[in-house]
Parts: sequence; structure tokens; C-alpha cells
Amino acid sequence: MAVKGSVPYDPQNVFARILRGELPCNKVYENDYVLAFHDIAPKAPIHVLVIPKAPYVSFADFSQNASEAEITGFTRAVGQVARILQVDGPGYSLLSNVGEEGGQEVPHFHVHIFAGRALGPMLPE
Ligand code: 5GP
Repeated sequence: MAVKGSVPYDPQNVFARILRGELPCNKVYENDYVLAFHDIAPKAPIHVLVIPKAPYVSFADFSQNASEAEITGFTRAVGQVARILQVDGPGYSLLSNVGEEGGQEVPHFHVHIFAGRALGPMLPE
């Protein structure tokens, strides 16, 4: 179920548990700012999630409250993960769902990287 836009951060959310090592993940990349791992239910041949290590609920929270270093570190890491996945050439799509109408289900900010096939129109009609 999608989460409301401005809920307080829930330290028991599934990505917080992955960050603490309480749940496994198929890791692609990690640095001081981010962890990137394969989505458990991929919607494309390549579907990777990039999450900040710090506790931000959504892009709305992150863009307002993260430090310049966190924002730069996160943005550069998304590009780095795309290069690691070797999807720069053929191309890829980034998505971050925010809140209820955005369809966000996990209340820890994340960017989806989709790739591996022609991804078609931006949103379903
Ligand atoms: P959202 O709808 O919040 O933008 O996307 C959440 C994503 O997290 C979904 O694509 C879902 O498949 C993925 N997800 C949920 N639980 C887990 C998990 O335990 N491990 C991994 N790797 N992905 C998960």
C-alpha cells in the first residue's frame, strides 16, 4: 500500500532493515552515502534501487533536508551505478515515487533504475 507523503521516518521500514544488515540484498554498489541493490520484484530486465544511507522518507524529505554533500553524493552515485550496470549506452530510466498518489510503498527515499529493454512511454495511458 502506498505511504502518505509526510509520515515521520519509520526505522522498521524494509530498506532501513537492509541498511542495518537485518535483511539480505543483492548489492550492486555501496559508498559512504548510498547503497544500491537489485529490486526483489523487477519490473524490467535490469531494475536496481539506489537508496541514501541516511533516514529520509522520500524525495520530498531528501531534497529539503539533506546536506549538499548528501545530495551530491547521492546524485553522483546514481550515475555511477548506471555505469556499473553498463546501461549508459543503450539508455535507462530513473523513477522516484513520492507519497500516496505517487505510488510510494517503501517509506525510505529511493530511485529506481530501469533498463535492459526499450522502456516505452513514460507512464501507462
Ligand atoms: P516504491 O513503490 O516504494 O517506489 O518501490 C518500492 C520497491 O521496493 C518495489 O519495486 C519493491 O519490489 C521493492 N522492494 C520491497 N521490498 C523489498 C525487499 O525486501 N528487497 C528488495 N530488494 N526490494 C524490495
